[in-house]
Parts: sequence; structure tokens; C-alpha cells
Amino acid sequence: MTAIDALEPLIEWHDRLSEAFGFEFLAVRDDLLPFPLAGNKVRKLQAELQTACEGDLLLSNGGVDSNHCRTLAFFGARLGLRVHLVLHSEGDPSGFNLSLLTRLGASFEIVPSHGIRAALDAAEAEYASGGFNVRRISGGCHTPAGAVAYRDAGRRAIELSRPDVIVVASGTGATQGGLVAAAEGTGAEVIGISVARAEAPGRNAVAEAAVWAGCEAREINFVDQFRDGGYALHGRTTEIAVAKGWAFGFPLDPTYTGKAFAALCDRRFRAEHLAGKRVLFWHTGGLMNAITAPKPRPGLRKGW
Ligand SMILES: *Cc1c(COP(=O)(O)O)cnc(C)c1O
Repeated sequence: MTAIDALEPLIEWHDRLSEAFGFEFLAVRDDLLPFPLAGNKVRKLQAELQTACEGDLLLSNGGVDSNHCRTLAFFGARLGLRVHLVLHSEGDPSGFNLSLLTRLGASFEIVPSHGIRAALDAAEAEYASGGFNVRRISGGCHTPAGAVAYRDAGRRAIELSRPDVIVVASGTGATQGGLVAAAEGTGAEVIGISVARAEAPGRNAVAEAAVWAGCEAREINFVDQFRDGGYALHGRTTEIAVAKGWAFGFPLDPTYTGKAFAALCDRRFRAEHLAGKRVLFWHTGGLMNAITAPKPRPGLRKGW
């Protein structure tokens, strides 16, 4: 049972950004996958839900403004399946995502972080006793099917655009792991820019996801220097990168894509990794976070 079929990577060539950066800049626009405020969770969940059946209840968890949870609610509505979400209360809930979840027919509960597992267990037991076949999907859709989806999309994008380097925002690591598998043997290098994790644990998570996608990667490029405060936080470096993208008509958010783009805006990083290369920026979505995160201070456009 599928909601949407082919998810051909949409690739853009950007002349003005190429000129500004001094390398060839291309982008895969996964923010434009077929849901409003889409992103990489569409590819992951589309793969994960290939085997969903009537009578399934989709159970998962995330933050109140989680891209994964909103996307799961979209799929549930498309497929006609019940969705229940256990949301944790950290962050700055705008209420906007929650109103979308409600419109999409998902039910949710908001618990403190330490109560997530117990709430998932309780919901699973309750829905199972109500006759549902409960499918529990790990947070962020960090699953083998998600990594395989990115391997397949990555292979297609590499075939279409022949990049030297792929740069992607990296969180749980399934997206990067899939892309690493896609790049194997092609000569393309994949650089993950961490949005949260430190280098060592982040690299291990990406390596694990690459294995899920069938690749025993020897070397994982996982850069933690652009975390800029940590997950869901950001500072001036990210704000400047986000402002720069928007000024070129390339929308970014401060939680994910803005951090990856900050690497491209960093002169030293550019000189070391990107100069003279064809760089494919994998836009993973996240524009919800551009709406809900605090606005950049005025005057930043001049700063880059
Ligand atoms: C979830 C997410 C990521 C991170 O993807 P992983 O596969 O967890 O590494 C990156 N960007 C956006 C916008 C996301 O929502």
C-alpha cells in the first residue's frame, strides 16, 4: 500500500550561489517532496510504510514541532490509517505543528522526555487491546528502510548530477548512511554536517545506517563544528547562513539545513573540502523550523 510512488530527486543548478561560493553549487530539493513543509522524512516514511496494511495503527514519537511526526500524520491521512504520537514537551511549541496534526486526524499526547518510553508502551498496549495492529516506528524514522530509501535516491541523484561532494545535514544518521551507501564506488564524497551529535557517536550512527543500506563504509565524514549551540538551538553563524540562503532564493531553516549551509559559508571549510568541486547540497527540508524558531535579528544580511 503506497501513498505516493516515484520520488525522483529534484535537482537544481544555482549559478548565482556557485559564483558567490566559488564552486559549482547544485541542490536536491527534498523540501519540495509532495507534502507541505516536507523533507527527508517523506522518503524515509514512504519506504517504511510500503508494508503498512489496513488495520495498522502507526505509533511514533518526537518533539512537539517534529518534522517526522507531522509527516507520519500526513501518511496516515493518505493511507487511511490511525496515527498516535507521543510528543515530548521540550523546545518552543508554536502550536502550529500541533494544529496540523489535529487537522490530519492524528491523536497525540505530550509527555516529559523521561516519560516517552512508558507512554509508547502504554499506548501500544491500549491500541493492541482495541484490535489494532500496532506498528511502532522509531523516532525520526531511523530505520533500515529509511536508509535504503536514501541509498536509492542518492544513486539516482549521483547518476543525474555526477557530484564530487554531497553535503547533508545529519541527525540520527539514516539519511547520511544511505547516501554513503549510494556514493560507494562512484568517487563522490559524502560530508554530513551534524545538527546535534558530537563526532564519535555521530559517526558510529551513520556507519550503522550505511550497513543497513548494504555498505561497510570504512570512512565516514561527520563534521560536528557547525552545531552552533546544539540540537534545536542556534547562534549567529547559523542565522547568517540562513539569511544568505533566503537572500539567494534558497530557503533554509536554523535547525537542520542552515547548519549544513553554514559549512558552505565557512571560508576555511570551503577551501579544505569544496574548492573547485561540484557540490551537491542535499536539502533535507525543515522549513517548519524556519517558521517556529525565533526570527533572526535585523541587519544580518549585511554580515555574510
Ligand atoms: C530529521 C531531519 C534531518 C536529519 O535526518 P537523519 O536521517 O536523522 O540524519 C535533517 N533535516 C531535516 C529537516 C530533518 O527533519
